[in-house]
Amino acid sequence: MIKVYNSLTKKKNYIKNKNLKLFVCGPTVYDLSHIGHARIYVFFDSFVRFLRNKGFKVKFLMNITDIDDKIINRAKELNKRPFTVARRYEKEFLRDMQALKVKVDILARASEHIDVIIKQIQKLIEKSYAYITKTGSVYFRTKKYKDYGKLSGQDINQLKDIEKSEEKEDPLDFALWKGRTKKDKFEPVWKAPWGYGRPGWHIEDTAITEKYFGVQYDIHGGGIDLIFPHHECEIAQQEAASGKKPFVKIWMHVNLLYVEGKKMSKSLGNFITIRDFIKKYPPRFLRFFILYHHWRSIIDYNQNTLNDIWNKYFKINEFVAKFNLFEKDLSINYSKFLKEINKSLEDDFNTSRVISLILEEINKIEKANKYNESFIKILKELDSFFLCFFPWERLNKKIISLIKKREKLRKSRKFEEADKIREKLKNKFIYLEDLPGKTIVINLN
Ligand SMILES: [Zn+2]
Repeated sequence: MIKVYNSLTKKKNYIKNKNLKLFVCGPTVYDLSHIGHARIYVFFDSFVRFLRNKGFKVKFLMNITDIDDKIINRAKELNKRPFTVARRYEKEFLRDMQALKVKVDILARASEHIDVIIKQIQKLIEKSYAYITKTGSVYFRTKKYKDYGKLSGQDINQLKDIEKSEEKEDPLDFALWKGRTKKDKFEPVWKAPWGYGRPGWHIEDTAITEKYFGVQYDIHGGGIDLIFPHHECEIAQQEAASGKKPFVKIWMHVNLLYVEGKKMSKSLGNFITIRDFIKKYPPRFLRFFILYHHWRSIIDYNQNTLNDIWNKYFKINEFVAKFNLFEKDLSINYSKFLKEINKSLEDDFNTSRVISLILEEINKIEKANKYNESFIKILKELDSFFLCFFPWERLNKKIISLIKKREKLRKSRKFEEADKIREKLKNKFIYLEDLPGKTIVINLN
């Protein structure tokens, strides 16, 4: 049985359904994604792969917010149409996801689901959970939905304004539709029964999940910063529209990634994009770096932690490259280790604990100079969902010929030239370790 921490119940809950519908809030495509975003997507990718490994059938859905104030503002800045900006950054996002081996079953663009968005808003108007203003905007009557605040643990009477607007009946109301009277080159509009305009952010998600999953589903994921107001609004909208509770059984929120103790922001200049990171390190290392931490703890990204985790990454890769050199001993039993691993995974998917257990076991093997091949089998099995312990690519011909060339140089005692090749390879994250009569190739890519 697998249990995970549920932000809604504030405790760990078992995942009971074997056919899972899982939705994760995707990117708003107006800029390159940063490593905080990568954390969310890598985590859920690994978690979904793990669930499948344990026999669950999972449908993994993600939305792409391609209509939003941020995109419109960016478009104005660049003097481009919003969809030109959105499509460009969607492409960049997909490139990053591919580089990190993140795989989603369905990616749904908000702009391609306007019909379902309008239908959901209409239902809310019919049930008088929503009202149309004189400018053709539609707002949700937050106070009519009594459970508002249950996810973020806030009392509705203590809450203040969610978003600014002159037209609202109540400060807590939020936009489902932003009415627009005229066409503007920087703002895409669609026709709804109550007039032209574009959808608000929160309604995009519930309309999309209703289309693919129905009005109730199993797991909703996202960053912890989306709990309020975004996810709180999603619950209100969907439970009000369908009359069914709970909208989602389990809410999983991945914690933040700080850079040197501060939240990432453009103005502080501490914004680290996935693109920048994988220029300096192998993409596989970013997965390792992310899964090295428990998903519910804050990551503080700084040079010290980075070096420390790099050393651990190196250690596992070094072991993978040379485990054959240890003496085989079939009498070694890993059942206790395996039990601990499974316990850690089944209890809130503790990848952090799993990595420390692996490192501990590697230390033991190195100390005793003995191992049993079944350890490698376990590691391979784990890597089917961690995707960060074994190299992603084999060495290519060019690299192999460089390694051979270096061997020859060493044999003819041209050490200086041999060292140059070694440095060159190191820059490509191929490390060479010379042992008596043998060179070990550690491929960190
Ligand atoms: Zn969302």
